[in-house]
Amino acid sequence: MTTEQATSRNDTLFARAQLTTPGGVNSPVRAFRSVGGTPRFITRALGPHFWDADGKRYIDYIGSWGPAILGHARPEVVSAVQAAAANGLSFGAPTEGEIEIAEEICRLLPSIEQVRLVSSGTEATMSALRLARGATGRDKIVKFEGCYHGHADSLLVKAGSGLLTFGNPTSAGVPEDFVKHTLVLDYNDVAQLEDAFATMGDEIACVIVEPVAGNMNLIRATPAFLQSMRDLCTKHGAVLIFDEVMCGFRVGLQGAQGMYGIQPDLTALGKVIGGGMPVAAFGGRAELMQKMAPIGPVYQAGTLSGNPVAVAAGMTTLKLIQEAGFYERLSATANRLVAGLTDAAREAGIDFCGDAVGGMFGMYFSKEIPGSYSEMMAGDKERFNRFFHGMLDEGVYFAPAMFEAGFVSIQHDDAAIDETIEAARRVFKRIG
Ligand code: PMP
Repeated sequence: MTTEQATSRNDTLFARAQLTTPGGVNSPVRAFRSVGGTPRFITRALGPHFWDADGKRYIDYIGSWGPAILGHARPEVVSAVQAAAANGLSFGAPTEGEIEIAEEICRLLPSIEQVRLVSSGTEATMSALRLARGATGRDKIVKFEGCYHGHADSLLVKAGSGLLTFGNPTSAGVPEDFVKHTLVLDYNDVAQLEDAFATMGDEIACVIVEPVAGNMNLIRATPAFLQSMRDLCTKHGAVLIFDEVMCGFRVGLQGAQGMYGIQPDLTALGKVIGGGMPVAAFGGRAELMQKMAPIGPVYQAGTLSGNPVAVAAGMTTLKLIQEAGFYERLSATANRLVAGLTDAAREAGIDFCGDAVGGMFGMYFSKEIPGSYSEMMAGDKERFNRFFHGMLDEGVYFAPAMFEAGFVSIQHDDAAIDETIEAARRVFKRIG
């Protein structure tokens, strides 16, 4: 099947979608703006695969951008959702399921003593930020270039993800008055962080960071960077927020905080904790969380927060990721993929390297693994785009932008990985 034939129904749908939806998509990076071409419209998914509107099958390495850690349409999760749905979709009154998932999150992440459920990662980080500001009585926040924390106004400041793709350092519509409180520093730059605290430590409400960054491709924080952040926040009375929306329950069962052995004051979660349904959360020290409404002065709410159907998917997912050997298998899969891709690129004489943390991976068209946003941006974007389209033709769906991390699920078996590496071997030769 040629690409032309394979995309015909996708083309039709994309043209139709653009009539009623800006850019034809409901979240920008889906639109293929960075790589060009027609987005694939997905009709169904199973295990490590999904199928587009032309019936073409892909090995899926975006996994709904993180949530699909169990693979698609896992029977236990689907059954839990069906059972919950049969009892009603939403009540606007509390349920026992919400207690259970809160207890599970608190048990798995000891830095979280209390947690509040929301429906998106954006809500989680936005609310954590408000709590940090409300608790400290300070306005300034620190974030790092290339980290993406959702699209709350205060955080859309040189943010990563889709915005990078469009080369837009900030979004229109964000008042200068909000942005002036957000300090954007370089990731992994301890000296800059120390300078910022030395200059205005008593004005900083919080530092928010992706402790394993997945929105500027995959970039690991150095332990020294996170430790200095922890120490400086403690010393200056600022709140340390780990945004683990992506890396939580993805890099390991205790998240990045467990991996690095560093406890944040607040954590934002999302993606995996909803298992593909809209569940996200923020939580942390009880003394801080007690400042939330209805018992404290910091307001936050949500019609569908803790939705029973979504929570059923999340809770079942949280149980299944605790099966013995789950993360060993997940990271072995990601490592195997990265090693295979690296070998295949070397054979074709292409500058390429990769990295993986748990079930997240990065692919870089550069000689060395980047440690910051600017190093990541130095990668060969044009070659990535050709690689992306070559792989898409081969039936392998990687994230449609060089600035994104990739994800494997526990259903990506040896056959799927081997098929991917064989395809990459052919594609690297073509783009070499
Ligand atoms: N934080 C991080 C680290 C993310 O990766 C994302 C989404 N990619 C968000 C926050 C925002 O989550 P959502 O898209 O659910 O609003």
